[in-house]
Amino acid sequence: MDTTPVPHDLIVVGAGFTGMHAVIHAARQGLDVLGLETGADVGGTWYWNRYPGSRCDVESIDYSYSFDEELEREWRWTERYATQPEILRYLEHVADRFDVRRHYRFEQEVAAADWDEGTQRWTVRTTSGLVAAARWLLMASGSLSRPLAPTIPGRADFAGEVYFTAAWPKEPVDLNGKRVGLIGTGSSGIQSAPIIAAAAKELVVYQRTANYSVPALNRPIGDEEWAREQQQLPERRRLSWHGLAGSPWTAHPVPFETLRPAERDAVFEESWERGGVLFAKAFMRQTVDPAINEAARRFFERKLAQAVRDPQTLADLTPDDHPIGTKRICTDSGYYAMFNEPHVSLVNLKRDPIVEITPGGIRTRSGERELDVLVFATGFDALTGALTAMEIRGRQGVLLRDAWATRVTTYLGIAVPGFPNLLTLNGAGTPSVLTNMALGGEQQSDYALRLIAHCARQGFTSAEASADAAEAWTTHVAEVAAGTLFATTRSWYTGSNVEGKPADFLPYLGGFRPYIDKLEQIAAEGYPGFVLGSVAGSS
Ligand code: NAP
Repeated sequence: MDTTPVPHDLIVVGAGFTGMHAVIHAARQGLDVLGLETGADVGGTWYWNRYPGSRCDVESIDYSYSFDEELEREWRWTERYATQPEILRYLEHVADRFDVRRHYRFEQEVAAADWDEGTQRWTVRTTSGLVAAARWLLMASGSLSRPLAPTIPGRADFAGEVYFTAAWPKEPVDLNGKRVGLIGTGSSGIQSAPIIAAAAKELVVYQRTANYSVPALNRPIGDEEWAREQQQLPERRRLSWHGLAGSPWTAHPVPFETLRPAERDAVFEESWERGGVLFAKAFMRQTVDPAINEAARRFFERKLAQAVRDPQTLADLTPDDHPIGTKRICTDSGYYAMFNEPHVSLVNLKRDPIVEITPGGIRTRSGERELDVLVFATGFDALTGALTAMEIRGRQGVLLRDAWATRVTTYLGIAVPGFPNLLTLNGAGTPSVLTNMALGGEQQSDYALRLIAHCARQGFTSAEASADAAEAWTTHVAEVAAGTLFATTRSWYTGSNVEGKPADFLPYLGGFRPYIDKLEQIAAEGYPGFVLGSVAGSS
C-alpha cells in the first residue's frame, strides 16, 4: 500500500469530459497534475451509463470538445444523437490523442480529502489506499454520478438478475425471453424501455410520476449532412458559446402573446418535428409564464393521445404534477407507442404502490407479478452527491457534507467558503446540467486553471470563496429560480428526490452566456469574492 503523499500541483478527480479537459490543459500549463478516477478507464458518465438505448440528447456535433480544431475535423459522428458506445469511443480517442491516461490513476475512488492549513495543500485518500497531496483539488466528479438505490422492502431478496442503468455491466446482458420489471421513468428509464421491450418476453414499467417525453427523431448523419455540419461548425460553436444553454438553438423569436392560437400550434409543431429536448423551450419564457407553459402542455397531451391506444394507460402516462420542462424533459425513440404492444404494461404506482420486492418479482397493492430481471433507473443524488459522499474536510476539519447540511452555499458554483483551493466543477450554482455539458465542462476547467495561474503569477498559494460572496451568489441562484416555474416542481434539480437533502434549486438558471460573462468580469477585476492568500499569510 502506497502511503507516502507525493505533492502535486493539482489533483483532478474524475475522467469524464470535464476532468479530461482539466488534465490536458493543466499539463499544457506546465503543472504537475494527478488524475484520479473510480472507473477502470476514461469516460465518466459515458463509462458508467451503458444501459440499452443510452445516448445523449444534445446533438453529437455540438456535444464534443471545442478546444482543438483538428480534433473537431478528424472525428466523424455517425448519428444525430450519439450512442453511449460512440461517445465513449470519442473520449477514448481524445485520451489517446492527448496522452491523457499517463496522468491518471484508475480504479481509485476518492474517499477523503483534508486541507492542511500549514502546508496549504490537500491530502487525498482513495478507498484502495492511495494517498496523494496537491496544492489544488479540482472536483470533476460529475453532476449526475451518484446513483440512488430505492429503499423498497425486500430488494435484497430478489432472486433474479438486478441491474442499475447507471452501473450497467460491460458484458452483454441477455434479456431475450425474460420478464423484466423496470422501475423509474426519468430519461434513463424512458430511453432504455423500448430497447428492453424489443428483447424481453414481457416488460412491466413501474411509474411513480408520469414524465414528459418528446421523440428524439434520431437518424444517421449522411456524408452530405456531415459536410454541411462541418462547414457550419464554427458558427454553431459561436452560437453555442453565446447562447443560454450551450447549444446553437434558440427559442422562437416571436413572443407567444402576439400570435394567434393556430400560429402558436405551428411553432410547437415545428419544434416537435425538429425532435428532442428543445420542445421544452419552443417559446421564450415557456418555463416562466404559466399560460405559455399550459399551451405547450396541451400540445404535448394531444401528441401523447395520438401515440397511446389504451385509455387507462394514456391517463396514467399523462403528467399531472408539474409544468412541462421544469423537470428535465425526456427524449425517446418509441417510448409511448411501446405501450400498445401486448407484452408491455404500465403500473401506476400512485394508484397501485409497491408493497415489496419478493424473491420472484414485485408485489404491488393489487398483487404480485413474476419477474426474471429488475432494472432500476431510479436517478441520482445530483450536483452535490458525489462530493458529499466523500469525507472532504476544509478549515478546522469541517466536513463539506456538514457545511451543506441545511443549505448548499457556493461562490459561482465552483468554490465554497471554508474550503480553500477546492474547485467544484459543474457544481451546485453553475449552469452545468442545464447546458451542453461538453462546453460547460471546458468553461469550468478553463476558469479553474486560469484562477490557479493567476495565483501562481501573483505569489498566492490559496484562493477561498469569501462567506459574503458565497452568500450573495447562492441567494442570486435561488432568486433566479424563484422567478420561474422550476421552483414549483419537485425534482432532482431541487434535491427533493433525496431524503433529507436541503430543498434548494441547485443549478444556475441565469443562462450559460450570462454566467460566463459574470465569471469573466470577476477574473478581469482580479477575482473579487475570492480571498487570495499565501503560506506566510501575506499577499
Ligand atoms: P431521474 O430523472 O431522477 O428519474 C428517476 C426515476 O426513478 C423517476 O421516475 C423516479 O420517480 C423514479 N424513482 C426513484 N425512486 C423510486 C422508487 N423508490 N420507486 C419508484 N420509482 C422511483 O433519473 P434518470 O432517468 O437517470 O435521469 C437523470 C438525469 O440524467 C436526466 O434528467 C438527464 O439530465 C440525465 N440523463 C440524460 C440522458 C440523455 O441525454 N438522454 C439520459 C439519461 C439521463 P419520481 O419522479 O416519482 O421521483
